[in-house]
Order: sequence, then C-alpha cells, then structure tokens
Amino acid sequence: MTTKPTILLIYTGGTIGMMKDYDSNALKAFDFSQISEKIPELQQLNCQIHTISFETPIDSSNMNTQYYMDIVEIIEKNYDLFDGFVVLSGSDTMSYTSSAISFMLENLQKPIIFTGSQLPIGDLRTDAKENLITSIEVASAQKNGKPMIQEVCLYFEYKLYRANRTTKMNAEQFEAFVSMNYPPLAESGVYLKFHEHYLLRVSDENLPLIVRKKLVTDIVIIKIFPGIVENVLKSILSIKNLKGVVLETYGSGNAPSENWFVHLIKNAIEKNIRIVNVTQCLGGNVNQGHYETSVALKKIGVVSGKDITTEAAVAKLMYLLNENFSLIEFTNHFETSLRGEIS
Ligand code: ASP
Repeated sequence: MTTKPTILLIYTGGTIGMMKDYDSNALKAFDFSQISEKIPELQQLNCQIHTISFETPIDSSNMNTQYYMDIVEIIEKNYDLFDGFVVLSGSDTMSYTSSAISFMLENLQKPIIFTGSQLPIGDLRTDAKENLITSIEVASAQKNGKPMIQEVCLYFEYKLYRANRTTKMNAEQFEAFVSMNYPPLAESGVYLKFHEHYLLRVSDENLPLIVRKKLVTDIVIIKIFPGIVENVLKSILSIKNLKGVVLETYGSGNAPSENWFVHLIKNAIEKNIRIVNVTQCLGGNVNQGHYETSVALKKIGVVSGKDITTEAAVAKLMYLLNENFSLIEFTNHFETSLRGEIS
C-alpha cells in the first residue's frame, strides 16, 4: 500500500487567508480549518493536508522574532509527523521571515514552502489558489522516497525560489518576488519542473534537525545615501547595546571614503559591533577592495555580505551574533554559505 504524503499547512495571516464579505464588501480572515471547502481543488491533490493557524492571524507588517519562534516550534513539534510544510504568510515581510526560518533550522531535510498572494483567496481574480495549490504540490513532491525539496523556499507566481535569496520587489503585480542572484529551483507551467542541480542538500543525511531559537535583535540596517552626515551616522552607531549593522552600500560595496565616515565605522568595529556590507542593488556582488572607495572598509574589518540579500543578511546577523564569535570567526561564518544564501 502506498501512503500519500502528509502536508501541514500553517496559516500565520496575510491577504491569502481573507474572503470578501459580499454584504459589507470588507475583507475578513476565514477559518482555515475549512480550507478544503473553500478550495475543493485541494481534494484532487495526491496528499493529505492538515491545517494549523495562528490563534490571531497577523498582517505580516507585524511580524517579529517571537512569531518566528512560533513558526519554528510548530515545525519542530510536527517535523516527524509530516512530509512537508507550507507556511502561509503576508507577502510584505515574507522574505525576511522565510530567510530567518532557514537559519533557525539546521540540517533540514524536509520542504518548507512559504507562499501568500496579492489578492485574497475569495477574490475572483485571485492568485492565491495557484500559489497555494502548487506550493502543496511542491511540498509533497518526492524522489526515491525522499522529499524533492529539503530546504526553505518561497513560491509565488509560477516560480519556486530559495527563500533566503528572495526580495519583494512589487506591491501590485502577481510576480511580487525576485531572486536576482540565484535561479529558480522550480517552475510551474504545463509541468512542474524542478531544476535539481540547484537544490540544497545536507552534507550528511544522518544529522538530526537542530532548531536554533536564539536570535539577537540589537541590530540596525543603515542605507547610505549621498548627503548622509556625520551626526546622523554617529547617533545610530551610538545606540546602547547595538551589536550589528547591515550597511547597505552602493554598487559593489562602495561607501564614502571621507575620514569621518571610515573613522565612525572603525570605532564601531572596535566596540565589537559587527558591520556587514551589503549592496543596495537588487543583484550582484559586494567586492570590497575592487574600488578605492571600499578598500578602507575591508581594512578596518567590515564583513563582506558578497551577494546576500538585505533580508537574509538581517536574519544571518541575528543568528550568528548569538554565538559570541571573535571578529575573525564571525567574518568566516558570515562569508561562508550556511543555507545556500550566498554564492
Ligand atoms: N499586508 C499584507 C501582509 O503582508 C500583504 C500580503 O498579504 O501580501 O500581511
């Protein structure tokens, strides 16, 4: 007897779980345990679906690290019981959340697929059905008795991405996400095509799942811009207990070479604040030392984020800061791919 894959659908909130109340015309969250009634197509899928929902579903603008814990705890408790997980969330912060979950789950060997939608599931022109149905199909796909996907992904508008490579780039179009520095892992057309050579695999299948729940939140993103002044940067870097900075620089990692700027960054690093250099560009690599304007950053101990997204850099910083690494250890870990987040 062959058993069907079992999928746990975790609803955290967001537009996808809304229905239009045609009397009032307002959007209301619907009871997710009745998902099969709302989307009868789900019964045609070759898997068993169970649902669990946040007690109070949230707009993803209210997402925080406590909710990250709630998500990983649901996955941890149910890890051995299910073949795959689909997490429904608002799209606004989905790249941040899914990136964080990717770091919090070490040695993952099951699929965790984040998805959502631009229009509510009850809307006539909704993108929710396709996103949800294909995400469940992806989560239940198997090869040689093992899950095809063994990492945290984000599925939106016919494409499956590695979650920690994504950025939300459009507030209106159905194609809301991009993954500029890594190709899609699968594409959905007439067939669901997996690009198997891009998929992540653990180094040793015998390693157990390790759930990392401690994240350090004393961090900040600083996006530099022409006209940024000493006072402003100085105030930010003087925040009490500040432990880490994602410094969004220009192009391939360039920043002002003026003395005050380099001096403030150097002082912060000497105070044990870890500074990670990430590009403001959607695609491409930080390459410290390529231009004169980034030579100083490299010299004073700024860590290169290489081609990491800001969202993944925030998550990785929260994750690694917990370990109390020396600057050299921190740099080595940050500049190495831990979950396929950098090339
Ligand atoms: N504001 C909503 C959210 O992120 C938008 C969406 O669901 O996509 O929760």
